[in-house]
Amino acid sequence: MKLILLGAAGSGKGTMAKKISADFGIPQISTGDLFREIAKEGGKLGEQVQSLMSKGALIPNEITFEVLKARLAKPDCKKGFILDGFPRSLSQAEMLEGVTDIDAVVSIELPFEELEKRLVNRRLCPSCGEIDNTSYAGFTGNCRKCGTKLFQRDDDKPEAIKARLEVYKKDVTPLIDFYGGKVFSVSSAGSPEQTYAPVKTFLSKLEAKA
Ligand code: AMP
Repeated sequence: MKLILLGAAGSGKGTMAKKISADFGIPQISTGDLFREIAKEGGKLGEQVQSLMSKGALIPNEITFEVLKARLAKPDCKKGFILDGFPRSLSQAEMLEGVTDIDAVVSIELPFEELEKRLVNRRLCPSCGEIDNTSYAGFTGNCRKCGTKLFQRDDDKPEAIKARLEVYKKDVTPLIDFYGGKVFSVSSAGSPEQTYAPVKTFLSKLEAKA
């Protein structure tokens, strides 16, 4: 199954991608994660990427598409994949059309005020990738899974959050129309389990049809 996961930052999109990946045996391809790796590696490209990311700005399309194409060419994508964070605009969706056919688009939806609240409080584990939130019961500042000290992403600071959500509203919302009948929308106002249940049912039916 070749899937796209749409959802603004803070919608729980990454968590859904991990669940789908585990249940359906397809890799999660997060362009944000790919760029964070590139930024860590440093060099001219790494520095350019880091500087744009820390402002909440998008990476230019030519760079993004090269990075994505290289990732999709890896053998683990043969059975399918879940795109998380791509496409983020109509032009990126059009570029993707030339490379592969998408089976379905899962759109995770939550009002922007709620997203802002979730993002300012979001904390990540640098070691295992676990996501926590200062407003969750039992929050200690250390990872629940491995005990490592949690950190806040540069682009989870208030100004960057506003910029990212504005960019999302302007550029990603039109994708819902672009993909039309392929879109399955779900609200993430409840728990991750409540959000995931209808998604799993939808994807199981889709898989059975293929
Ligand atoms: P994310 O983890 O999806 O929130 O992405 C973090 C950052 O990576 C974004 O704010 C952008 O700077 C960059 N990025 C991720 N995906 C894309 C994309 N499809 N196009 C351009 N920039 C991207």
